[in-house]
Amino acid sequence: MFSDSHCHMDGFESEQQLMEVLERAAVSNLDIILTMAMSLESSEEAIRLARTHRVVLAAVGIHPWNAVAPTDELCRRLEELATTEGVVALGEIGLDYARSPQTATEQRELLKYEMSLAREKGLPVNLHCREAHADMMGLLRGEAGSGLTGNIHGFSGDSDMLKDWLEIGFYIAIGRAVLRDMPGLEEAVTRIPSDRLLTETDATPRGQSAGPAEVVAVAEKVAALRGVTTEEIGRTATANLKRLLKL
Ligand SMILES: [Zn+2]
Repeated sequence: MFSDSHCHMDGFESEQQLMEVLERAAVSNLDIILTMAMSLESSEEAIRLARTHRVVLAAVGIHPWNAVAPTDELCRRLEELATTEGVVALGEIGLDYARSPQTATEQRELLKYEMSLAREKGLPVNLHCREAHADMMGLLRGEAGSGLTGNIHGFSGDSDMLKDWLEIGFYIAIGRAVLRDMPGLEEAVTRIPSDRLLTETDATPRGQSAGPAEVVAVAEKVAALRGVTTEEIGRTATANLKRLLKL
């Protein structure tokens, strides 16, 4: 049993391509595929996919690359999406000062709104964070005790950053970065408490990966680093994801 807590299943050129990717995931024993949104349109597509495919669950939200200041109309649309049946999380949301430094102010404003929405609706947040760790921690510490839950997606930091995420009670999703040679990350992976570990691929229709099925390779590497079996990592990460999503 495995699970992909973060991937992008919208935007395939054909339904057949999507079916092939989902078939590979089924053969690899994936129980949950949580598909992310990049924009309002892709949020709607995520909801459609979740309705059509039993294994797919939907997150909605606006990616920091597409961040704009949250107008009343935008907030109304996001609230509508967040309360649509089948939506289990807000994502992919967050801060990216590496790729989009020019919209840092808009990103923070939008993220603040999305966090308040998540808290209000009892949904976890699936967070993207690049070169914005200090600001992200500032926002999350401001939410301390508010009931906001969630995970950092594609964690690739070291043990110090890991400590910050664990202190605020968040889950840690390990993705394909662990397949590369990153000693700091490998050490951090051994320090994640079992009840906070998630697995993901961040697979997209355009990527070269095998899709969510590649989460098995991620679990294999995590298992080798932690000295347990691949199946145990799959089971643990899936149980954690179900708890986070309140399934
Ligand atoms: Zn992503």
